[in-house]
Amino acid sequence: MGEFDLIARFFKRPARHAALGIGDDCALLQPAPGTQLAISCDMLVAGRHFFADVSPHKLGHKALAVNLSDLAACGAKPLAFTLALALPEANEPWLAAFAQGLFELADAHDCELIGGDTTAGPLNICITVFGEVPVVQGRSLALLRSGARAGDDLYVSGTLGDARLALDAQQGKLSVPAPVLRAARERLERPTPRVALGLALRGVASAAIDLSDGFMGDLGHILECSRVGASVQVDRLVQCIGCYAEAAPAEHPLGIDLSVEQWRTLALAGGDDYELLFTAPAGQRAAVARAAQTSRTPVHRIGRIDAIAGLRLLDAQGRALEPHDASFDHFA
Ligand code: ADP
Ligand code: MG
Repeated sequence: MGEFDLIARFFKRPARHAALGIGDDCALLQPAPGTQLAISCDMLVAGRHFFADVSPHKLGHKALAVNLSDLAACGAKPLAFTLALALPEANEPWLAAFAQGLFELADAHDCELIGGDTTAGPLNICITVFGEVPVVQGRSLALLRSGARAGDDLYVSGTLGDARLALDAQQGKLSVPAPVLRAARERLERPTPRVALGLALRGVASAAIDLSDGFMGDLGHILECSRVGASVQVDRLVQCIGCYAEAAPAEHPLGIDLSVEQWRTLALAGGDDYELLFTAPAGQRAAVARAAQTSRTPVHRIGRIDAIAGLRLLDAQGRALEPHDASFDHFA
């Protein structure tokens, strides 16, 4: 099968919203009047971001999901994407499953594939997404990393740490009961981009980022871009399939033998969560609750933005945690 047959067979579909889709030298996108294009690109490399033998259906989903997550963080509505693929071989069942996983998520967000590039090489998937953000009275409604102000509340959606739990279990570092592992692997392999929440937070949140590298590092980006600090109640970070850290220590919940420090580390530094971390003025609490409700996304208030630079981690009693309390080097 040649490159053009492959594209026609697995990826070419009629354009729906784009002025011109796959088949010419460029695609043409017509942004609606009064909107900006939000653009983001993420690359997934075999052996680095996924195991080469992962299910192609899940890989198709994840490759697009991590990109949609970036649109969500900016409060952008997905429009279209391009797909650059390096493939070691033209394996038809693999391509069919990959395309199915990809298009299921794309269709769920009405986001269409408008072009790409296909070449032979080590398995590598690079997607660029295009989204739409309204501009109102000359002001973009895009959510940025730089908008957090002292006194704002700090929120996170969903639960953190599940993907890392699955990764550690798969690599034999942890023993996790089968039902928990199944749920955690779902988080790792089929993350849910929080697109509806991002849209609902336009005009409500003051800053936002999606959590891909881990809570600590990604919060660090908001703090740096906004030139502020933060205090975080670590045990409010919901982690591991809906399990609170404060309930974690003594009983080893879910049958997993982890110390409270290790639980905290999963939530604080796990990575691959694809939840939204955002800030909003304290006066917006009701609006944040409405955004969570309309988008059917759980949201937790976990801390506060401070004028003093730096990140302060607090336990359930509000006491400062020493770095070793969260054993940050556990994953080093
Ligand atoms: P060019 O050589 O002009 O870059 P190509 O021959 O690479 O164009 O691609 C032909 C058409 O197929 C283009 O419209 C391109 O965007 C599209 N295309 C190529 N690879 C993919 C892919 N993996 N998914 C979707 N569209 C693709
Ligand atoms: Mg090309």
